[in-house]
Amino acid sequence: CGIVGYVGHRQALDVVLNGLRRLEYRGYDSAGVAVLADGAIVVERKAGRLANLEARVAEVGVEAFAGTAGMGHTRWATHGAPVDRNSHPHRDATGRVAVVHNGIIENFAALRAELEAAGVEMASDTDSETAAHLIARAYGGDLAEAVRTVCRRLEGAFTLVVSHADEPDRIVAARRSSPLVVGLGEGETFVASDVAAFIEHTREAVELGQDQLVEITREGYAVTDFLGGEAVVKPFTVDWDL
Ligand code: GLU
Repeated sequence: CGIVGYVGHRQALDVVLNGLRRLEYRGYDSAGVAVLADGAIVVERKAGRLANLEARVAEVGVEAFAGTAGMGHTRWATHGAPVDRNSHPHRDATGRVAVVHNGIIENFAALRAELEAAGVEMASDTDSETAAHLIARAYGGDLAEAVRTVCRRLEGAFTLVVSHADEPDRIVAARRSSPLVVGLGEGETFVASDVAAFIEHTREAVELGQDQLVEITREGYAVTDFLGGEAVVKPFTVDWDL
């Protein structure tokens, strides 16, 4: 439903939770956050209001989320009940890959069967979790390449935001038939399903086209199509008032 991703100079937890708050108007049933902290990915997810997630984060202690890259999600369940374990972000079995997803992966049953046949144990009832496992298995040292490879296999509508613990300074996002915008700040870059998520930080934005992937770092962004070829994007300035 709502997605935000961040790489920059501030604490990602704050930026992501603020961004999710700005997307609350869309409605949702669960929320979650992932931060690249100290060589690992720290994840918390809770069914219900954002306040439930915030309470959980406070319980764990914000120190655990110290890091300047992260992502968040508000979920509107399509596959699997709105419970904690179906909330996003989803991870692969090693916990090195984290994924948030908007939309529906139409061929998830076949992908899930393939993963299960290969010995992968599913931790949720969602269509989205398949993407986390597929990306982890496709990973050979270049996250963008792994995400492109997997996107070519996915059917349906998706916005994906993906991180890998081995690449703590970058986040990869991709889209098909579901919105994705990049926000360009000073020493910080955002991705979101809606500019509302980052408009308090920057009004300089880039809209991704169909079947495109973006890698963001503090310094900026790079867009390709799902084959790795050059892609044309639309930069714009958000001109509405807060
Ligand atoms: N299909 C996914 C799920 O049910 C994502 C739903 C969404 O767009 O929030 O978990």
